Amino acid sequence: MRSFQRVAVYCASADATVPRYGEMARGVGRRLAERGIGVVYGGGRVGLMGCLAEGALAAGGEVIGVIPERLMTLELGNERSTRLEIVPDMHRRKARMAELADAFIALPGGWGTWEELFEVVTWTQLGYHKKPVGVLDHDGFYAPLRALVSSAFDQGFVRPAVQEILSFDEDLDRLLETMARAWLPDVEAWLQP
Ligand code: AMP
Repeated sequence: MRSFQRVAVYCASADATVPRYGEMARGVGRRLAERGIGVVYGGGRVGLMGCLAEGALAAGGEVIGVIPERLMTLELGNERSTRLEIVPDMHRRKARMAELADAFIALPGGWGTWEELFEVVTWTQLGYHKKPVGVLDHDGFYAPLRALVSSAFDQGFVRPAVQEILSFDEDLDRLLETMARAWLPDVEAWLQP
């Protein structure tokens, strides 16, 4: 079973219209810190990202932010992070976050969150790294994505060999447990017809 030193968390740069999402993100940061797991994230101090970092820092956790120069100059960087790495662009940011983390979790979010989520899933699928990915399905937010993924399995667009790369759960501890046990493919396995 895998253990995780650092998990990259992708989540909204916006605040949700309901405060409980902010509380959830703070709780995730806090729980990761309590478990001794460092947080790697996009380095922002806004939205759910800011709540996540705040929760982890308040509980004494390690928080590493990786932010592109452009967002830093827009003054969106979180100087309170344990470490804030400033990188030239989005591509370098995503690669660096993937390098620093041994697993990835998406919380509720929008375009940016989904883009980051699917990129690391495909990197595991293609064997660029061998790291599990999880979606924290808070309050049923990701039910439509679960339905889409299930439909893609049924239609054969996501092959059985790569099915366990992405796990879903509404509970963080259970999600980490599933990710620790997930069967991750060798590229050759999923390339089989
Ligand atoms: P979104 O879900 O569209 O709000 O995008 C959030 C994701 O994109 C985060 O995980 C970040 O890595 C990145 N991102 C988007 N906007 C910002 C921002 N203002 N500051 C830092 N990172 C951001």
